[in-house]
Amino acid sequence: MAKIFCIANQKGGVGKTTTTVNLAAGLAKVGQRVLVVDLDPQGNATMGSGIDKRALELSVYDVLLESSSVAEAKQHSAKAGYDVLGANRELAGAEVELVELERRERRLKAALAVVDKDYDFILIDCPPSLSMLTLNGLCCAHGVIVPMQCEYFALEGLSDLVNTIKQVHANLNADLQIIGLLRVMFDPRITLQNQVSDQLKGHFGDKVFDTVIPRNVRLAEAPSYGLPGVVFDPSSKGAQAFVEFAREMVRRIAAM
Ligand code: ADP
Ligand code: MG
Repeated sequence: MAKIFCIANQKGGVGKTTTTVNLAAGLAKVGQRVLVVDLDPQGNATMGSGIDKRALELSVYDVLLESSSVAEAKQHSAKAGYDVLGANRELAGAEVELVELERRERRLKAALAVVDKDYDFILIDCPPSLSMLTLNGLCCAHGVIVPMQCEYFALEGLSDLVNTIKQVHANLNADLQIIGLLRVMFDPRITLQNQVSDQLKGHFGDKVFDTVIPRNVRLAEAPSYGLPGVVFDPSSKGAQAFVEFAREMVRRIAAM
């Protein structure tokens, strides 16, 4: 049975997609079978996994509207080492179209249930909003991974997400929990970042992952080559941190 995780944070540019594709590549590297679901109409996780979003014949959009199965719509990225259920701009329309439909927040859950046995991990890259698309992700997940930068307003921004997760937990998905907060783009030379990091640990205890992802230019360069940083430059500090994070996830899941 696959463990399903949403990578979510309603803020944009905090490292969701970078976390999704690099955790996926790290998990693949340590022998896990992984599916990445791109739930963001920007299609960055799709492109960053080496799949051209403009050339998709079928995408997560077709899966949400039930005109395709996951098995039909997914593609294998040989370079990245995992499968991708891609997205492109078409997905933006699903937001409106879903409102009219039955079981609108449970569409992805139903579709993923069919491929449950084919994967160890399913990672869902969420858009920067708490929209119907994100809700579809949260409805099928066992947990949420929250990437965040250790900046001044970091804790404040978290409360909306924590409340949404509580509501989904109460009303739609009793399995849902925060698996952990992942400190990303971390620069240990910046005093404020260390302070916020300590605050986070004070508030959230062991919900803060042990692994810290450093700010590393190789992670930022990798998407323009259509590769996760873990594959693009395995010896870089950023890649090594994500492989370590993949190991930490495997350990945490075993203990869940
Ligand atoms: P989101 O999906 O939350 O919008 P992204 O993963 O696209 O965020 O990251 C935003 C930007 O920051 C991208 O340009 C990405 O390459 C860069 N970035 C993300 N993580 C790191 C990191 N650890 N070090 C350096 N740059 C990073
Ligand atoms: Mg993104």
